[in-house]
Amino acid sequence: MLFPSILNLKSLCLKIKIILDYNFLDKIGFFIKTLLLNKVTFNIMTEVISSLNPITQDIVGSVPKPPIESISDVLKKSTLAQDQWRKLRISERSKILTRARKNLVKRSEEFISLISEETGKPHWDSFLEVVTVVEHLKYVCSHAPFILSKENRSSGMFLHKKAYIQYSPHGTVGVISPWNYPLILAMSPVVEALISGNTVVLKPSETTPITGDKIRELFLESGLPDNVFQIVHGEGEVGSALVHSPETQLICFTGSVKVGRSIAVSCAKQLKPSILELGGKDPMVVMEDANLDRAVSAATWGGFSNCGQTCISVERIYVMDSIADHFIDCLKKQVSMLRVSDDKNNSDLGSMVNQRQMELVRTFVDEAKQEGATFHLDGKNKENTCFYSPTIIETEDSSSALMQSEIFGPVITVTRVSSEEEAIKGANSTEFGLGASIFSKDLTKARRIASQIKTGSVCINDINTNYICASLPFGGVGISGIGRVHGPEGLKAFSRVQAVCEDRFGFKKELWWFPVTKRTKKWFNIFLKFWYG
Ligand code: NAD
Repeated sequence: MLFPSILNLKSLCLKIKIILDYNFLDKIGFFIKTLLLNKVTFNIMTEVISSLNPITQDIVGSVPKPPIESISDVLKKSTLAQDQWRKLRISERSKILTRARKNLVKRSEEFISLISEETGKPHWDSFLEVVTVVEHLKYVCSHAPFILSKENRSSGMFLHKKAYIQYSPHGTVGVISPWNYPLILAMSPVVEALISGNTVVLKPSETTPITGDKIRELFLESGLPDNVFQIVHGEGEVGSALVHSPETQLICFTGSVKVGRSIAVSCAKQLKPSILELGGKDPMVVMEDANLDRAVSAATWGGFSNCGQTCISVERIYVMDSIADHFIDCLKKQVSMLRVSDDKNNSDLGSMVNQRQMELVRTFVDEAKQEGATFHLDGKNKENTCFYSPTIIETEDSSSALMQSEIFGPVITVTRVSSEEEAIKGANSTEFGLGASIFSKDLTKARRIASQIKTGSVCINDINTNYICASLPFGGVGISGIGRVHGPEGLKAFSRVQAVCEDRFGFKKELWWFPVTKRTKKWFNIFLKFWYG
């Protein structure tokens, strides 16, 4: 009997140690850090969110989770900071954000390891995140001063008037971001909102909060004034508080269709504009004249990089029957060579972000098995880990959950088609409409197909490069979202458009103002027939 009680005592001590190590010390440490950083008065900062490394299950770090009632104070600070920030010239804002870009490059190693620790992705995937963000920052800082400057418009028949539009910030923008690209999907919309003169409150994903905090550090050290950019940590209810608050004038949300839909409803009720970047189920069309090597490599990278946890991952491939066997053989060969491991520097696929996400993938795969789909590669989950190796499934059933739902994991489906029309029909057979790709050496044919696919973006003989191309707007149609980020369209979405009509000469009155004489009416009638008839 003594032995079990010693064991119990040992486990109790261990529990106390864990509580002391992780909770107590963490809470105290972060509480003090928060006091020092934010110079807040004694607050009721009682809870913390801890970020777990999905590979080791170690705590990467913890952040304070503010009580929900305190979010309105954060937003009020943001509104106050608005006044000064919006008055700066775009070039002045651009200077600060350029410094942030340079600091990000200087600290890239640190960001890369942190992103990988929080998400389980290999360093190469995290490196690509950094590259994408600095490319976006470079574009935004050099183009925003032109894109958001006053734009002259035609005044039509009113030759004595000047017509133009000018852009002004919305005010405080609430940015809510997911975990799959914790740097890009937080920083890119934040930077677009900031350069346009808005102040921003970011709610990063509760799965990757430490990267969110690093972004704040980066902005602060780059000279962004106090409260122009703030972070609130927490789960959905914190995001919801941003959406419902009258202090936010625009919401930019990136995440699932389900949450996006609920945000759209709340924003509609308040008549608050929202940008919604939601899920995808991207098709790839491979025609018989495609450069097969390139198409296979594109499918492999497009489907399995970041473990398939990308909104624009290749999820469905439609390949012409005549080349299907060869294409599948080559794809299988290339995908089988991918290295799935925890070796951050020498793996192609890391771990999935958490057990929940992994189980979701497994459910889709199991269901496909039960329905009799053909497995060309049957990826397995390494027991007690979140590693899931690549899976290739052939199916004809376009109505199955596998073909209609976003899988968001390392799974690709292949469907044989016998004509261009069938490929287009397949590509358009879901409610999603984020991205697509077409592989054919005949550019006329590829462009013809592209124009009939209902998605927000499309790549021809390429995959996902459109996202890194900072001048191109990004967003979806259908249930993939509303609104655009990136490019001129994205910058303008973070701005209010004001139309201005200016009189040039100051005549006593216009002819159509009161009183209108009979003679004026007669001349207007003649003008109508002559000018428009
Ligand atoms: P999610 O919708 O569960 O969460 C996204 C964010 O919303 C998180 O910060 C979360 O805390 C917050 N949130 C949850 N409930 C909320 C509520 N009621 N009100 C306000 N905020 C709330 O998504 P996820 O699992 O973090 O991310 C994966 C999803 O994101 C996938 O569907 C993926 O396709 C999508 N995504 C889209 C894009 C795009 O640009 N279109 C990019 C990346 C990811």
